[in-house]
Amino acid sequence: MAPQPKRHLLPTFFATVLVLVAAMVWMGVQLLRQDRALAGQRLREQCDDAADLAVASLQQQLSRTEERLTALSAALNSDLTVAAGAFANRLTAGSVLLVLGASGMDVYPERRLLFVPDAARPPSAVLALFAEADALEFRRETLRDAIAVLRPLTRHADRAVRAEAQLRLARCLWKSGDPDTSLAAYRDLAQFRSLPVLGIPAEIAAGEGRILIFEARSDRDSLQREGAALCEGLRSGKWPLSRRAYAFYRNEACGRAGTATPPDPPETVALAVAAEEAWANRGAGGGGRRIVWHENTPILLVWRTGVERTAVAALGRRHIEANWLNARLGVRIALSDPEGRIVAGAAAQATVPQTVRLAAATHLPWTLHASVPVGSGALPARNRLMLTALLTLVLLVLAGVYFIGRAAARELEVGKLQSDFVASISHEFRTPITALRQLSEMLVSGRARDDQERGEFYRAMAAESERLHRLVEGLLSFGRMEAGAIEFRMETLDAAELLATVVAEFRKSADARQYQIELDNGDTQRPRVRCDRAALTCVLWNLLENAVKYSPECRHVWVGLAREGCRAVIRIRDSGIGIPPAEQKQIFEKFVRGAGAKSRSIRGAGIGLAIAEQIVAAHHGAIAVESVPGEGSVFSVLLPAVE
Ligand code: ADP
Repeated sequence: MAPQPKRHLLPTFFATVLVLVAAMVWMGVQLLRQDRALAGQRLREQCDDAADLAVASLQQQLSRTEERLTALSAALNSDLTVAAGAFANRLTAGSVLLVLGASGMDVYPERRLLFVPDAARPPSAVLALFAEADALEFRRETLRDAIAVLRPLTRHADRAVRAEAQLRLARCLWKSGDPDTSLAAYRDLAQFRSLPVLGIPAEIAAGEGRILIFEARSDRDSLQREGAALCEGLRSGKWPLSRRAYAFYRNEACGRAGTATPPDPPETVALAVAAEEAWANRGAGGGGRRIVWHENTPILLVWRTGVERTAVAALGRRHIEANWLNARLGVRIALSDPEGRIVAGAAAQATVPQTVRLAAATHLPWTLHASVPVGSGALPARNRLMLTALLTLVLLVLAGVYFIGRAAARELEVGKLQSDFVASISHEFRTPITALRQLSEMLVSGRARDDQERGEFYRAMAAESERLHRLVEGLLSFGRMEAGAIEFRMETLDAAELLATVVAEFRKSADARQYQIELDNGDTQRPRVRCDRAALTCVLWNLLENAVKYSPECRHVWVGLAREGCRAVIRIRDSGIGIPPAEQKQIFEKFVRGAGAKSRSIRGAGIGLAIAEQIVAAHHGAIAVESVPGEGSVFSVLLPAVE
């Protein structure tokens, strides 16, 4: 018999495993932490390296820009336009080159500023030429004379004079009631494009004049077209205007256009404001770098002053980001001003490792921040992998513990059943042995009164020996069954004949216990089965014995045989204690005894049905039970019938 597992070992085993798992988890967490710290350290180093590289690259870019500005500020006048154009070609939209000289400010590329700080004024000498015409137009209201004075001036050698004359001529023609000729004169005026007339570019003056005529004529379509064209020109920086003039004409013209005009992009406004700043500080010699803010838009001014002029690069955010921060460093770079406002790049999240290089240390106009983009790098992937491995390991250990625990619990259960079995079987043996001892003692001491009584003693001894024999046979069968060594001697038998023999034999012991065994061997059909006579007898005997044992009150057992299809079915029915449904499957397992059997102290070892089921299975048959607690049970042995 297998040694019984020690019950107290199980908790010890589970506790040990628990400690092991806890240690494993702890070590895993430590490992993860270390790994994270290591990866963080690596990222910080990466940021440091990237920050140094970015600083070096920015310093290089800035000094290259400054060198080129120095060259521009010192260039010959004849070379300036070409050199400035080449410089401007490299600028991204939102940036501009300004050349500030004695004559004013030149913008490269042209038209990039919405308004300029040095909107030109007509020279007073030019205005003096129109004193007479203006007097005729305004004071004496002799428009024809004024027109006569102005016409020759529209062919003057000086372009500025021609433009001024054209404006006045158009105005006088309109006032004299000749709008068509006036419109033609305004068209001619527009040919002078940006040339200032009365302080504003000729095209704007012409547009304004035409708008007045269209308004007076209530020509809404032409009015709207003219307004839209002017508005478009203004918003594209077509004309050099002061900030105030720009705002005035923009409102005027866009109002006439009659459609909602979107506000100017902050970047273009900021660029024009920065140009104003540069113009206002044009006296400052040498060179420098400065960030000019307009609302939330920064412009970096870098300038170099030469003998004749100052060259200023006004660089917007886009230019810096596209040309100076695009080095593939694997980190995110952001530039901020001393107040912490971001000038270029995107601010890093506070949680990610980042390196800061202060402006004071790098001599750059910005403080530089290098950070790792969120979710990048090998850190999360590695961590995930380690976590998965750790979890898998823990799960495997837990699954192992579960299965070992389940197997151990089963073993414990079987162990308990085995010890119950030993107790029951000892009791089983003791009863016939005690009876045999008493009977033999009585015979030896001559206590039998006569031959008849002696004969009864001998019969009782024979019955007890038979019982012992069956017990030993049952145990041997069980032992062979456990070892898988049962051998059957198969023969073809008449099932009815076999059943009748077993019942007749069983009746002998049943009669003594006052039990009636009723046999119904079926009618004409007598099924034949292939079986081992001794083994099948053992099965039927066990079932009959159980029917008797578990029917303490109703002392009647019914045995029947029938052919059902291709099977011979033997049924043994009793009206005993019955079997609860929950137990009906378990009772076929070895050592299992029903609760009713135990509570009523009915003797038994719990192996009879296990043996019976094994034997019937070996005969390609099956055993089934139908039972109602308190009403009785029917055990059916189904065997293949032989034709
Ligand atoms: P044993 O009878 O020695 O306990 P068995 O393997 O023959 O062992 O039966 C297992 C259990 O099945 C019994 O303990 C009993 O609870 C139940 N049992 C078997 N046959 C009957 C029956 N005819 N009526 C009620 N219970 C039965």
